[in-house]
Amino acid sequence: MADRLCMGCMEVYEDKYDICPYCGYKEGTPAKEAVHLAPGTVIENKYIVGQSIGNGGFGVTYIGWDAVLNQKIAIKEYLPSEFSTRAMGVPDVTIFTGQKEEQFLSFIMILIQIRSSHPSICFCRIWMK
Ligand SMILES: [Zn+2]
Repeated sequence: MADRLCMGCMEVYEDKYDICPYCGYKEGTPAKEAVHLAPGTVIENKYIVGQSIGNGGFGVTYIGWDAVLNQKIAIKEYLPSEFSTRAMGVPDVTIFTGQKEEQFLSFIMILIQIRSSHPSICFCRIWMK
């Protein structure tokens, strides 16, 4: 028997179960929305993205797993629907061109400034095309 990490709650359970005994999540369940990252996406070989747990105007919050520290985390993705989108199943973010692109990038600069004053915030690579 092997163990399985649930993408719905990030608890570990035996793979003899078809669904997570803690939350009922079934492995292989697609993202709740087409623009969300697919559960199981790995960022920077370190962070495993789980199911989305929140969705607002500025982005998406996912339950996640830090594979280095072996702990649950929250992953917040900056994905403002006004400036950007994502094709289903593709991790890259598409930013609308023109003034929208400038606004998107100015918000990125603000996020970088926020990170510099909050060491507990990790800032991962930005996918852009
Ligand atoms: Zn679960």
